[in-house]
Amino acid sequence: MRPLSETEIRHSFINCSQGEAQRIHLPGQLARTDWGSQAFLGWIDPKSPHRGYVVAETANGPEGVVLHRTPHRGKPMAQMCQFCLTLHGGTGVSMYSAQRPATKKERYSSLGTYLCSDLGCADYAVSRKRPEGIRQMEETITIEDRKERTSDNVERFILRLKERSRS
Ligand SMILES: [Zn+2]
Repeated sequence: MRPLSETEIRHSFINCSQGEAQRIHLPGQLARTDWGSQAFLGWIDPKSPHRGYVVAETANGPEGVVLHRTPHRGKPMAQMCQFCLTLHGGTGVSMYSAQRPATKKERYSSLGTYLCSDLGCADYAVSRKRPEGIRQMEETITIEDRKERTSDNVERFILRLKERSRS
């Protein structure tokens, strides 16, 4: 993705108020981000580990989403991240939910998906990070295609989040 400034990141959030967006804790190493190799920007709030953020380049420019991680319940099991399609064992994948952009009627509506618990998908997609002790699906596609697929999956999630219910 192309490099984004702090202001662009703060303005990109579609499911929180501008006031909240101003208070979001940005990733610490923003200046050192290797943007060219990133499928999207994903990070866990350094102050509240149950909040995460995703910012992706979409057809409408950069769009960001605030996510909430659901605590694990029951026995941990192997699961696949819906963004980067990485398999993780144990608690490596978590259920994340995003509030739909606020309208009065749909204020409490949200959309959930299973994602890498550390939101490190951009690194997993290019094999810069690998989960330990679990075999991945055999794939023949290139790293570049995996990166592309990951950003497509993120963009699709953002589109679904913005879809209005037809009822
Ligand atoms: Zn992932």
